[in-house]
Amino acid sequence: MDAVQKIRKEGLDNSKVMEHAFYFTDVSGPRLNNSPGYLRAANWAKDQLKKWGIDAKLESWGDWGKGWELEKSYVAMTAPYYRPILAFPKAWVAGSGGLQSAEVIVVTAKDSAELETYRGKLKGKIVLLPRNDTLKPTFNADASRFTDEELQKMAEFDPKNVPQRPRGQFQQGQRPPVTVTLNRLKDFAKIEKAVAILSASPRGRDGTLFVSGGGAYTASAPENFLDLMVAYEDYMTLYRLATSGIPVKVDVDVKTKFYTGDIKGYNVVGEIKGTDPKLKDEIVMLGGHLDSWHGATGATDNAAGCAVMMEVMRILKSSGFKPRRTIRIALWGGEEQGLHGSRNYVRNHFTDTANRKSNAEGDKVSVYFNLDNGTGKVRGVYLQGNEGVKPIFTKWLEPFADLGAKTVTLQNTGGTDHLAFDGIGIPGFQFIQDEIEYDTRTHHTTMDSYDHLLADDLKQAATIIASFVYNAAQREQKIPRKAVQSASGRQGF
Ligand SMILES: [Zn+2]
Repeated sequence: MDAVQKIRKEGLDNSKVMEHAFYFTDVSGPRLNNSPGYLRAANWAKDQLKKWGIDAKLESWGDWGKGWELEKSYVAMTAPYYRPILAFPKAWVAGSGGLQSAEVIVVTAKDSAELETYRGKLKGKIVLLPRNDTLKPTFNADASRFTDEELQKMAEFDPKNVPQRPRGQFQQGQRPPVTVTLNRLKDFAKIEKAVAILSASPRGRDGTLFVSGGGAYTASAPENFLDLMVAYEDYMTLYRLATSGIPVKVDVDVKTKFYTGDIKGYNVVGEIKGTDPKLKDEIVMLGGHLDSWHGATGATDNAAGCAVMMEVMRILKSSGFKPRRTIRIALWGGEEQGLHGSRNYVRNHFTDTANRKSNAEGDKVSVYFNLDNGTGKVRGVYLQGNEGVKPIFTKWLEPFADLGAKTVTLQNTGGTDHLAFDGIGIPGFQFIQDEIEYDTRTHHTTMDSYDHLLADDLKQAATIIASFVYNAAQREQKIPRKAVQSASGRQGF
């Protein structure tokens, strides 16, 4: 309890978590994997850990692909009248080759045969696909926290009774228009020397754009055709005008840069060495992904998680603890394209490739803790189906009931780097975090900036996770492993 008190004091009263977040966001910039912004952030983290007296390095996990950076983006409608257009190029697209003034054309082809009728008609044009969805006003608040009832439901979750969540942007009964696929159209538009394709979705509304990748990034892949995500309201203005026969012109000036000098992927790895002669070779790991999409500075996804995990290391180091086990932080690259950093790290270090299980080194890893669900404070832990840890984590949460963290749920959560560990049987956990504006406003959007971070929530998270890491490092036994291996390690991201 002395240690927990010390951690609480350091984490809540002397927090530096927002400073770390500032360096990961405003100072580093967008952190698309292998981009200059990613490397700025990775090097800052490595240097900062060293300043605290923690061994740290950038470690390559193997070949990955090209870096990419946006150097300029200007988009405006110029006819029938002038209006700036809210638009953002998708990652790994080519530029426009200077300022292009282009007519808008709506391609209504339903299949490849119909697309052929556009042969010779797209040169110098900006291409749109038909849409028949409509914007609906939102009646719910952007931000939310878990209610007591919701947390209670999570605590009572029974893995035998998994609920199905409906997905998709189209209302029931409504079907999207039948068109050629975006990829087919891009290939065609590139050959036909069109200027760009504009994309949209009703989610990208009210000034918030959801932007991710625009195609392949492998070293040998050709540059992708220019594809810009456009605010739904702006897209529909262009679309309505163009389909009613009114000539629409758009100016596009996009410049992008590819980086092919070093195609390796990198994680940041740092550690505080264990001191117990019997346990010092065992490892307690913590981390989160450092890469982001490029539409903003990836504040909630996932500078927040990295700032918290850096803060955990600072708290533990500055409190002067001598951990029994070694404590290792990893800030992962390439998560957004498929958990590449964590999966390859786990493969390189901890996996017996013959049977895809934990090897001798992996058997020394007690546990991995991950944070990657935005800026919300910790409300508890997802047990990932590991019933054996329930009493342990319940006990570890007890001193933090006053901070709103008390729920342990047998529910699985997917989508991020703990799956790489879970996949080979090493206990890997992600914390339950209040949603705040994650799905509505920040996750993979142009609004994911520092201003959407909540300082008090991040301080709380760092304090609780520091205590978890400390407990795991000091505990007599390692964290128990699951009796039966689940398939959650193979879920999507
Ligand atoms: Zn993330």
